[in-house]
Amino acid sequence: MYSNKETDINKYFMPTEVHLGKKCIEKSKDKFSEFGKKALIVTGRSSAVKSGAQQDILLVLAEKSIEHVIYNEIVENPTVDSVVKGAGIFKENNCDHVIAIGGGSPLDAGKAIALAAKHNVTSKEEFFSTDFSEAFPVVAIPTTSGTGSEATQYSIITDTDSNTKKGIAHPAIFPVCSFLDPTYTISLSENVTRNTAIDALSHLLEGIYSKRRNPLTYPVIFQGVKLIYDNLKKCLQNPENYELREKLMIASLYGGVAIAQTGTTVQHSIGYPLTTEYGVAHGLANGVVMKDIMEAYYPHIKYELNQLFHFIGINKLVFFSWLRELLTDVNVEITDTFIEKQAIEVAHSSHVNNTPGNISPSLIKKIYLQLK
Ligand code: NAP
Ligand code: FE
Repeated sequence: MYSNKETDINKYFMPTEVHLGKKCIEKSKDKFSEFGKKALIVTGRSSAVKSGAQQDILLVLAEKSIEHVIYNEIVENPTVDSVVKGAGIFKENNCDHVIAIGGGSPLDAGKAIALAAKHNVTSKEEFFSTDFSEAFPVVAIPTTSGTGSEATQYSIITDTDSNTKKGIAHPAIFPVCSFLDPTYTISLSENVTRNTAIDALSHLLEGIYSKRRNPLTYPVIFQGVKLIYDNLKKCLQNPENYELREKLMIASLYGGVAIAQTGTTVQHSIGYPLTTEYGVAHGLANGVVMKDIMEAYYPHIKYELNQLFHFIGINKLVFFSWLRELLTDVNVEITDTFIEKQAIEVAHSSHVNNTPGNISPSLIKKIYLQLK
C-alpha cells in the first residue's frame, strides 16, 4: 500500500517538448523558426562555448535567419542583479524569446529574464515583488546533468541583499522546448559531474519524500535513481563515454519531471545555506545531508523507499555506503553560530510544508552537527 498523503488526486503536467539525442539541435533545426525572430542567448562565462552547444545554436540561427544577442554573464547561483540586467538587454534589443544554454544557473537565469522582461521589471525590488502572470518563451539547452531545470517551472535566484536563494515557480517558465544532447556534458569536470548527478538524485528522492508524492511519477523516479546508481561511478571513470553521459542526462530530466509535480522538500532548504554561506556546490550541499535526511523521512515513506531499493536490487545500507564512497573527499566546515541560526530558519522554510514528519529546529541542528 502506498503511504498516505494529503490528497488522493494525482496530477501530472509537464508541457515542455523534449528533444534528446546526439546532434538533436541540428536534427530538429526547423523547430527554431517557431520560437520567434530574435533570441536573447543567456549563458555562463564559458560553459556554453566549452560544451559546443553555443556553436551548434549559432549555426542553426544563422541558417534560419533568426537574429540573436548573447548575454554571457551568468554566474553560479545566479543573482537577481544579473536577471534584471538581462531583462534590460532583452527589451533594449527587442528580443522575443530566450535561448538559455548551460547548467541550472544560466537556465534559471534565462527563465527569470523571460518573466522579468515580460513584466518590464527594472529593479531587484520589483523583481521580488511582482506577481508574475506570463513570460516570453524559453528554450533550454542543458550542459550539466543535474537540475532538471529543462523540464521544470522553477527558477532559483539569489537575493544578494539577504544572501538567500529564492525560488520562483510559475507554469509560464516551463521551457517551451528543451534540447538534450549528452555530448555537451562530456566537457564537465569530475566534481561537477558528481555534484550535479547528486542534485538529480535529490530531486528523484524528493519526488518520493514530498507530501505531494504521486505514483504517476514513480516509474520515472525509480528508473532515474537506478540510472544514477548503476552509472555515475562508471561515468566518473569514463568521462568521455557518450552512453554513460546519456544515462545521467536522462536521470536528470526524470528528476526535473518528478519535482515539477511534487516540489522539493527540506532536503533542498537545508542545503541552500551551505551554498550561500560557504559556497558548497548546490548538488553537493544536498549530498552531504542526504543520508540523515533519508533516515529522518524513512519511517514515513518506508513502503516507497523499500520498493525503490528492491527495484534497484540493493538495500538502504548498501545505498548509504555507495553514497559515502562518492563523497569521501568532501569536507564542509560549519560554525556553531551558523547551525543555531539556520536550524531555526530551515525549520520555518516553506519546504517544511511539503515534508513528512515533524521537522523541528532540533532535527535540523542534529543533521547539521553530523557535518562537524
Ligand atoms: P551551474 O551553476 O550552472 O554550473 C556549475 C559550473 O559548471 C560552472 O562553473 C559552469 O561554467 C560549469 N559548467 C556547466 N556546464 C559545463 C560544461 N558542459 N563543461 C564545462 N563546464 C561546465 O551548475 P548546476 O548544478 O547545473 O546548476 C545549479 C543551479 O541550479 C543552482 O543555482 C541551483 O539552485 C539551481 N537549481 C535549479 C533547479 C530548477 O528546477 N530550476 C533545480 C535544482 C537546482 P559557467 O560558469 O561557464 O556556466
Ligand atoms: Fe536541486
